[in-house]
Amino acid sequence: MKVIAVANQKGGVGKTTTSVNLAACLAEKGKRVLLADLDPQANATSAIGLGEVEGISLYEPILGLKPAVDMILPTRMENLFAIPGTMDMAGAEVEVARMPNHIVQLRNALEGIREAALFDYLILDCPPSLGILMTNSLVAADEILVPIQCEYYALEGLSKLMRITEDIRNSGNNPTLAISGLVMTMFDARTNLSMAVIKDVRDHFQEVAYQTVIPRSVRLSEAPSFGKTILEYDPKGPGTIAYQALAQEFLERQKRGVSFVNGVIE
Ligand code: ATP
Ligand code: MG
Repeated sequence: MKVIAVANQKGGVGKTTTSVNLAACLAEKGKRVLLADLDPQANATSAIGLGEVEGISLYEPILGLKPAVDMILPTRMENLFAIPGTMDMAGAEVEVARMPNHIVQLRNALEGIREAALFDYLILDCPPSLGILMTNSLVAADEILVPIQCEYYALEGLSKLMRITEDIRNSGNNPTLAISGLVMTMFDARTNLSMAVIKDVRDHFQEVAYQTVIPRSVRLSEAPSFGKTILEYDPKGPGTIAYQALAQEFLERQKRGVSFVNGVIE
């Protein structure tokens, strides 16, 4: 099982939309996927049509109180499973911080799921901050997928995320952590700005940037309010086509191996 953290400390860049729909499209391709919601806002949870379920989240596992395997729920989609998020996760930020070597709590909690070998991919939808849940997710992850919104200041904060990634590698807690992809979201072909962001990201990050670009689509923003993935909500629409292409490219890259380590592409 590969653990992919979908992370960017910037808010509203498409982390949850990408986590949910990439997970769904990988499941559609027959991969066994677990989507875990690390965000107290629990947007990914509602986006796949699950509500908050009392006692079912990573809250207790991250505190070392319960096994994470007990928190896995099925979804409407074959091959797609989820661990819901909950408001309690906000409290975990504080409680985990008090624990010794707190940065490895999530990694340890997920060990049982890794060992059970039930899934091909575990996708972690990270909250927008550089808090404990985010750093725990990065320590638990094999790779980081970074959504970049095609907007002003798109690359703002990325160098900080890269520094944190490097610190985590150097800490010895996760020596092989790498940013394996940047995916540009909310692309609007009518604006020069969107084009400029794409050029900027490709110039800086070359093949670490995905070829697939996610267009701005009203359907993508509506789907979560119906508790549906884009595959269910608009099966033939541009959002579905884009996330299916992203899943395809993701799997090709998994075979090929592209990643950004210490400022160089490996
Ligand atoms: P947060 O930092 O709050 O967790 P996020 O990075 O997870 O946010 P999303 O929740 O995925 O970002 O997206 C932010 C908003 O933009 C949401 O309202 C979402 O529906 C919308 N959105 C995301 N991607 C697209 C898209 N490609 N086209 C149109 N709207 C989008
Ligand atoms: Mg989110």
